[in-house]
Amino acid sequence: LGSSLRSSLDTLQGKSRLDEEDVEEIIKEIQRSLLSADVEVDLVMELSASIEERATGEEPPAGTSARDHVLRIVYEELVDLVGESTDLPLEPQTILLAGLQGSGKTTSAAKMAWWFSKKGLRPAVIQTDTFRPGAYDQAKEMCERAEVSFYGDPDEEDPVKIARDGLEETAEADVHIVDTAGRHALEDDLIAEIEEIEQAVDPDRSLLVLDAAIGQGAKEQAREFDDAIGIGGVVVTKLDGTAKGGGALTAVNETGSSIAFLGTGETVQDIERFEPNGFISRLLGMGDLKQLSERVERAMAETGDEDDDWEPEDIMEGSFTLKDMQKQMEAMNRMGPLDQVMDMIPGLGGGMMDELPDDAMDVTQDRMRAFDVIMDSMTDDELENPRSIGASRVRRIARGAGEEEETVRELLEQHKMMEQTIQQFQGMGEGDMQRMMKKLQNGGGGGMGGLGGG
Ligand code: GDP
Ligand code: MG
Repeated sequence: LGSSLRSSLDTLQGKSRLDEEDVEEIIKEIQRSLLSADVEVDLVMELSASIEERATGEEPPAGTSARDHVLRIVYEELVDLVGESTDLPLEPQTILLAGLQGSGKTTSAAKMAWWFSKKGLRPAVIQTDTFRPGAYDQAKEMCERAEVSFYGDPDEEDPVKIARDGLEETAEADVHIVDTAGRHALEDDLIAEIEEIEQAVDPDRSLLVLDAAIGQGAKEQAREFDDAIGIGGVVVTKLDGTAKGGGALTAVNETGSSIAFLGTGETVQDIERFEPNGFISRLLGMGDLKQLSERVERAMAETGDEDDDWEPEDIMEGSFTLKDMQKQMEAMNRMGPLDQVMDMIPGLGGGMMDELPDDAMDVTQDRMRAFDVIMDSMTDDELENPRSIGASRVRRIARGAGEEEETVRELLEQHKMMEQTIQQFQGMGEGDMQRMMKKLQNGGGGGMGGLGGG
């Protein structure tokens, strides 16, 4: 799903302005992505309306491509909606967990207790679920695995009494996490029960636990629990599966709260504090959006400052020299880790990068570094006329740079490939040329594509 959003964003790569059609296309893809990530329909419509308004109303800053401009708007709007992680001070507190049966409350209670214990606090879990057979054993066992205190009473039928007793019995603990019963669906007795527990334990915050796969049901649940006990944060569980957790956006929006934790597996350590960038990037099936947009911005700012007589346009006239290639590499280096930059280049989109072994990109970055050293040890004449470099010059250059002759030959080969690409562009019409130059100016020029293939 992310790939179609990515490819429609990629078609904007070379443009500096968006026309109506572009915006419509992009909005449609964003809607598709969000809907299949289980974000609620109304919310998707609201979000896409504000994205559309900004995308058509705001001029991309000078030097920013339409694609990056839209990406940034999408990212900003989602960050705006989802907010920062729920504030959880590392101090004594009582947390009440609410949610439907099977959403992951008991698992999350033990996980959160484990998390607080790693932060140096002394947590205890209080199990008030008298509804589900085996709830006591399950919670007790998980707390043993998490090495945290536990209170429950399998012989007591009143959850409110268990909650009260539990707070007394675990008085030595400083963080109390109160687990509650769920039902298959929202039922009046469930709501009544949790209201009573809430009054008995007077929690500092109540968190709603949501299965990442929850779709359109998130809204009603969030509203009901918020009305009953006041929801101060959301825990999204089972993010280790295929579900993207878009229901959490609905819950956050509905309760005016934020996301506190993410559950990413069945063991007590599989818990993460929420962080907007990773969550949103995953939601859209895109790479690290925050880093990308920050990097692009930085690279553009730096390109503007550079006191240099080299212009990307020069590439389009006359020959493509090693000097041009070095400039291109510098532009790319400024943008950070190569694999993330590659992710932004049309035609090299994430799919291909995902297939490369992890260390393949390190090799390529090493190679880029080696190429740079080699070019530094070439004469001006060699840089401008790479075709004049014969075997003996290769040997001298390699020795001067402290690199293998083979690497020098690879560099020359790489240059030849790029030169051919450029020549193809030179044979194209005016519009294509402008697109190419725009790409080069943005530092993500297609000309470096050959580096990834090795
Ligand atoms: P409760 O009814 O709300 O207390 O839910 P449980 O904590 O009993 O969890 C229901 C099921 O979901 C159990 O089988 C858990 O192991 C599983 N579960 C909970 N959280 C996660 C998670 O983050 N990842 C995965 N894969 N499974 C989870
Ligand atoms: Mg439970």
